[in-house]
Amino acid sequence: MTDTQTITIFDTTLRDGEQSPGASMNLTEKLEIAHALVDLGVDVIEAGFPIASPGDFEAVSEISKRVQGATICGLARCSDGDIDRAWESLKEAERARIHVFLATSAIHRQFKLKMDKDEIIARAVGGVKRAVGYCDDVEFSPEDAARTEPDFLCAVVKAAIDAGATTVNIPDTVGYATPAHMGKVIKTLVDRVPNIDRAVISVHCHNDLGLAVANSLAAVENGAGQIECTINGIGERAGNCSLEEIVMALRTRRDYYDHDTRINTQRLVPTSRLVSSVTGLQVQRNKAIVGRNAFAHEAGIHQDGMLKEPTTYEIMRPKDVGFTKTDLVLGKHSGRAALADRARSLGYHLADEQLKTVFAEFKKLADKKKEIYDGDLTALIEQQLYDVPDEAWSLVSFSVQSGTGEQPRVRLTLRHGDRDVTEEMSTGDGPIDAAFLTTEKITGIKLLCKDFRVRAATLGRDAQGEVTLDVEHEGKLHRGRGVSTDTVEATVKAILNAVNRIVMTTEGTSRAGDR
Ligand SMILES: [Zn+2]
Repeated sequence: MTDTQTITIFDTTLRDGEQSPGASMNLTEKLEIAHALVDLGVDVIEAGFPIASPGDFEAVSEISKRVQGATICGLARCSDGDIDRAWESLKEAERARIHVFLATSAIHRQFKLKMDKDEIIARAVGGVKRAVGYCDDVEFSPEDAARTEPDFLCAVVKAAIDAGATTVNIPDTVGYATPAHMGKVIKTLVDRVPNIDRAVISVHCHNDLGLAVANSLAAVENGAGQIECTINGIGERAGNCSLEEIVMALRTRRDYYDHDTRINTQRLVPTSRLVSSVTGLQVQRNKAIVGRNAFAHEAGIHQDGMLKEPTTYEIMRPKDVGFTKTDLVLGKHSGRAALADRARSLGYHLADEQLKTVFAEFKKLADKKKEIYDGDLTALIEQQLYDVPDEAWSLVSFSVQSGTGEQPRVRLTLRHGDRDVTEEMSTGDGPIDAAFLTTEKITGIKLLCKDFRVRAATLGRDAQGEVTLDVEHEGKLHRGRGVSTDTVEATVKAILNAVNRIVMTTEGTSRAGDR
């Protein structure tokens, strides 16, 4: 046996992933995901872009203080202000990394930066050196590397390593590369950059052509030692290299690549579900590794083979990636310990106070429905993860009347601080529309509904209804989620959830303006 090389898994779900439209997360949600990533076994967590907003700064600081077991990384442009701010947020981390980036392709140099090649190299070196002054783990990314002229890319990478970069990350920022091309870019660096042995080569591939995982594999084959990826492949536009796919490709085909990762693959499905429910970005059914149908054999001939010998049609076992056969059922008599245990195996790390609230809600739900499934529990916990700020709106009561040939009528009482506001309206083309209009009237926040989805959180007719919606407010997309055994109530809760996210974001923006 040769020595299998371990590939560093750099997760950027909380930075690149969060840039997916409508996927912004609050601090509690980010902390949950960070803890889950440590359980999963990722090596580096890119927690945010600290200078981008006060919210990002706070998230990176809190994750640095509270999450142990992985290197915490913050992104910065090659400017003093960015790097200082990044370090300020990272300084309490058990292990910290500063990630500086600067675009290097001709098109970015000419149109975005208006800088020539020498200026680019000087700026990159300056940025890396400033970061090295703070911490010895520094990553440098020449943005749009895949479209940068090979000679210049080699020159920039050499200069960054000389300046002290310990990881050089090669991003295919626009998702333009193909596997053979990406492999060649990495091989060129290995062959032509004289000091390349002093740094780890990393790749960051976008999925615009559906090739992010294939491109990352090609990079590994040619000498890359780190892969940047996200859970469920979320990220800008078509997203990033999907963590679960690249990890299982390396694990399943270790015979060919002779590389592996430290990922605990049985945590893949729970982490995927956590990220999906926190971000509201659903996983397609046929998604490799974590999709609901990923291991479902429909064709009779397959089923026959599977029964005789699973390996005839199965290259991985469902349990290896964390699918469990049974949904554990909790009921009225289940205690707090059982609930805590189940929450933990679903990937949540609830503080005592949160657990207390979830348990109270669980008891209430157990009175309404006999069997509480994982989906119910997830829905209850998700509601607790959403910290309700003082300025938030909450539901006091509602009533809806609708019927054939009748104008829908909605009466809504909302609480804001210690003030209750009631409005009654009979308008709209249905009770949902009427609920939207009434909420807008009370809160004064205009909402354009872009997507509206209702699904049963679990099995059975008494299942909780989960409403997820995307609304646009002042050109930005926000999501809302509400859960109840009553679908109309779930809708009203989802609308309020979106309203509160808007209130919080607007707050954040005005604070950012003060800087
Ligand atoms: Zn990216």
